[in-house]
Amino acid sequence: MAPRVFIGLSLAGAWGPNKFGGSLDGGVKPAYNIWMSPKTHQERKTHIILTSHPHHIYKSPPIHWGAKKASERGPIIATFTDPDLRNAIGSHSGGYAVYRALAMAAGNLKTEHRPDLTNTSPVVRIGPHPSWTDPEKIVSLDPWGADIVDVFKKELKQGLDIRPSIAITKAHLQMPEINQAISAGRLKIDGKIIKPNRDVVVTKAALDPVWYLPGIAKRFGVTEQELRKTMYEQTGGMFPELITRPDLKVMLPPIGSTTIYIFGEPGDIGRADKVHTCRVHDECNGSDVFGSDICTCRPYLTHGIEESIRTAQEGGVGFVVYYRKEGRSLGEVTKFLVYNARKRQKGGDSASTYFQRTECVAGVQDMRFQELMPDVLHWLGVKRIDNLVSMSNMKYDAIVGSGIKVGRRVQIPDELVPQDASVEMEAKKAAGYFADIGPVKKGKALKKVKGRALND
Ligand SMILES: [Zn+2]
Repeated sequence: MAPRVFIGLSLAGAWGPNKFGGSLDGGVKPAYNIWMSPKTHQERKTHIILTSHPHHIYKSPPIHWGAKKASERGPIIATFTDPDLRNAIGSHSGGYAVYRALAMAAGNLKTEHRPDLTNTSPVVRIGPHPSWTDPEKIVSLDPWGADIVDVFKKELKQGLDIRPSIAITKAHLQMPEINQAISAGRLKIDGKIIKPNRDVVVTKAALDPVWYLPGIAKRFGVTEQELRKTMYEQTGGMFPELITRPDLKVMLPPIGSTTIYIFGEPGDIGRADKVHTCRVHDECNGSDVFGSDICTCRPYLTHGIEESIRTAQEGGVGFVVYYRKEGRSLGEVTKFLVYNARKRQKGGDSASTYFQRTECVAGVQDMRFQELMPDVLHWLGVKRIDNLVSMSNMKYDAIVGSGIKVGRRVQIPDELVPQDASVEMEAKKAAGYFADIGPVKKGKALKKVKGRALND
């Protein structure tokens, strides 16, 4: 048995001269030595265990992605309580790993903490579906992620630190747009899906990303090696195992999660005799939460919720999938820079230059890459969507390309498009977005679609 690999990093020495002969702190001792903090001194390790050493013999259980049973697939272990057992790169709740580190550094969270999972199991059972055991249908989440307490009971009893990557719960929603739809008679209070106080009953699931790297590479048509190398470089070397541990094929990336809101019976999803309505929605904090009028995100989201509720009330099932891909996955800072560039350009904000302004700032028009989006639908067992509440050709192509049939595509009603958002809407329609109401503007007509000035 090879010895455990670690580097004996003297933390006190870290403040001393570095190998270039200088001093990391400019020769000045810190006023407060964080490593000797009385609150945390006892808990702190004096060495760092490297999990990336290629020659160390690890005890990590193997992962057989797409195996027929959870027990054959094996648990995914991305925790640090026993680094030798890790069989995945990254960590659970990857997007929050830095907050977790801060909590530990500040002494608020014990490094050895393990969650008590009593009573946390899903409120409804989703799957297993045939897509769960197809190594190519699902590559960006762990289909067994909600059920680890059941399917890895034995391993948990043995002391393995396995954590859920999916949680399923129930909630009531109160939304002004749904209230208006009830008042206008478009939705009815049925006591089941909409309660007498206008609460909407929903089942919701949160899914953290779990990437099977060979499958991800295949989706994007690149080699696994190229994918690993680029991710290693672009995360500033944050995950050395991408390079040093080619045997680790699963990664929990530090990106946002996905949430599903289901209206009606979750068990009806996938049934051939039930009508399915679905909106796949990418996060837009400015519109979704604050009602900013430069885009159609919230109106389209609430329209999708209304259509989903209506389908459920008519005996079908509706669901909205919400992906954390703020500003086309470019981030909100880039998005706001683009807003300024659009509004300040010569001639003002125009539908004809909408995409160019994004590309000038971001280098690309869009980084959402809908290739991974249908995985959540396959996790739900969706085979057909009768009403797809989306105009995006990229979303449609990804869904249909993944083997899910789409019936009708539902355009956002014109009256729901805010005036300032017509720039975005007309630009997208001209670029190939689905539209069956009204003409698609081109050339001069597209140029004439103008947005508000920055100071109006
Ligand atoms: Zn938006």
